[in-house]
Amino acid sequence: MNYKAFFNTVSTKAHSMPVVILYVTEGCNLKCLSCSYRLPMPGELTFDEIKQLAQQLSSFGLKHIVYSGGEPLLRRDFRDICNLFTVLKVKQTLLTNGLLLAKRAEEFKGVFSEIIVSLDGADAETHNRLRGVNSFDLILEGIAKARSINAAPQISIRTVLQKQNFRQLPGLIELAKQTVVNRISFLAADVSSEAYGRDNNSTRGAVASESSMALNKNEVLELKDIIYRASVKYKNEFESGLISESPEKLQHIAYYYAALIGKDTFPKNFCNAPMVSTVITSTGDIHPCFFLPKYGNIRENSFKELINSESIINTRSRVKVMEPDRCRKCVCTLFVSPRTALVDKF
Ligand code: SF4
Ligand code: SF4
Repeated sequence: MNYKAFFNTVSTKAHSMPVVILYVTEGCNLKCLSCSYRLPMPGELTFDEIKQLAQQLSSFGLKHIVYSGGEPLLRRDFRDICNLFTVLKVKQTLLTNGLLLAKRAEEFKGVFSEIIVSLDGADAETHNRLRGVNSFDLILEGIAKARSINAAPQISIRTVLQKQNFRQLPGLIELAKQTVVNRISFLAADVSSEAYGRDNNSTRGAVASESSMALNKNEVLELKDIIYRASVKYKNEFESGLISESPEKLQHIAYYYAALIGKDTFPKNFCNAPMVSTVITSTGDIHPCFFLPKYGNIRENSFKELINSESIINTRSRVKVMEPDRCRKCVCTLFVSPRTALVDKF
């Protein structure tokens, strides 16, 4: 029983921090239209700093680390970083753009409990256009390689549905079946924050405008219809869990886009991400989640000092009642029930 995590879910104080999302680098080998990450940030955490951090996280009840970025597989010492957490018996998940998977999957065999590969289209033309690099074929090769060597118990596809690819939802489900992944999940594009590298003022890379990603009124209606038809055609795939979301949850993507243009209210969100998880960037900034502002840096204070600072306690109180505007418009929530926390399912 994980009583500390349970108490997290019913209070605003963190008694432990079971889930950490770590950006191991902000360097990336793709040039997605929606993201400004290109080169690694100057002064990214060194291996020794991550080693120290791993110890601090472990003594604070870390159960699950999710590697993100940037592209984690670009970091040369990434295998050594994973070793640190393997020794600490922490569950590890990789979020990757998949471009280096064919080349490096073997090296990481058995490390991750899940490898989640981002795909932005069901065909090369769409995916490559949105990702800025001819990468579709190589990514499919990477998924096939990861499957053939059984690189992880779970291999998944994740797609951000937006104006330029939402009609491909059925094609993406077919692709998930063809590539024999364990699941495919969909989310809406976050068009109104700087999360996911969406930094409009960045000199690193241009970022697509909100109007080129958000759906208009007719497209919202079309998406609702596409999801409805998919819910009938792919009933078995929904029931088997190949499609992570229920049809009702998928419709939230359409409601979200409708709300962005004032045609609906945002779907009601439930989230306690800051109570059970935290995001640490490649330069050590610490955030309550992908979207909310940082509340410190692990180079300036220890994890233990930061995790219950006045600022984050205040944020948790506000998130408890979904007060921040960001929470209302959030496209990627996390909710861990007190019971799930108690039985330590992270
Ligand atoms: S969205 Fe991901 S894959 Fe695309 S440029 Fe940004 S970090 Fe790279
Ligand atoms: S709803 Fe979204 S923005 Fe709000 S705390 Fe959860 S993840 Fe963060």
